[in-house]
Amino acid sequence: MAIIEVNQLKKVFGQLEVLKSISFNVNSSEVVAVIGPSGSGKSTMLRSLVHLEEANGGSVKVGDRYLVKDGVYSSSQQIKEITSRMGMVFQHFNLFPHLTVKGNLELSPKLVKGMSSVDVSKMSLELLDKVGLSDKADVYPSSLSGGQKQRVAIARALMMNPEILLFDEPTSALDPELTGEVLQVMKRLAEERITMIVVTHEMGFAREVADRVLFMADGEIIESGAPEQIFGNPRHERTRAFLTRVL
Ligand code: ADP
Ligand code: MG
Repeated sequence: MAIIEVNQLKKVFGQLEVLKSISFNVNSSEVVAVIGPSGSGKSTMLRSLVHLEEANGGSVKVGDRYLVKDGVYSSSQQIKEITSRMGMVFQHFNLFPHLTVKGNLELSPKLVKGMSSVDVSKMSLELLDKVGLSDKADVYPSSLSGGQKQRVAIARALMMNPEILLFDEPTSALDPELTGEVLQVMKRLAEERITMIVVTHEMGFAREVADRVLFMADGEIIESGAPEQIFGNPRHERTRAFLTRVL
């Protein structure tokens, strides 16, 4: 069953058509990897799903509710409700430097959901344990490695109990030796069957963990299929050329 339906989504920046007419569905519990060259619109597509970018046309439906339908956005209250079902992890972590790790995790659930200090405290310790950072609750982000920061960012996203997790190149800013620990956490989340859309340059991860791979270029989805098909037998010349460059 589709949990996200994207239909003919369009986005322009000035004269530049960044998303030309993107359509795809994501099923509940599915892990979808999005690959493609830099500048192809992957981040814009992801950001449009959580209303960090406003589309110029098309529809995004989450569950049975439209974020935007034929270019017309729902009310701000509805947008808030719909986007709160999704959590996003960015390339550059976006942690608050003046808050401890635990403080970073606790801020949104307290502020947005009005959760009690006791509840958020318990939950933050559980989630830090889940990403292997129990011992870092009281330190500040500046004392962490990039891999640790990104694991904190993932735990922070999980604090809001999202049904869908969106990742925008979560390991691209990391030194190569730190990508593994982050991918490991993501793999475990995938095994728990949380719905995920992962924009990534990690072809090994896409191949091993994703149920489906979308290849984007120039604001379009050129091809979509099972990882074995995309990597083993790409149908389009552009997919083939891209994979030859990156693999
Ligand atoms: P990707 O994530 O695949 O690298 P992006 O979605 O970041 O691609 O960008 C797609 C295109 O849109 C690029 O040409 C980029 O320069 C342009 N773009 C992205 N954000 C903006 C913006 N806020 N203003 C103008 N152009 C933008
Ligand atoms: Mg990007």
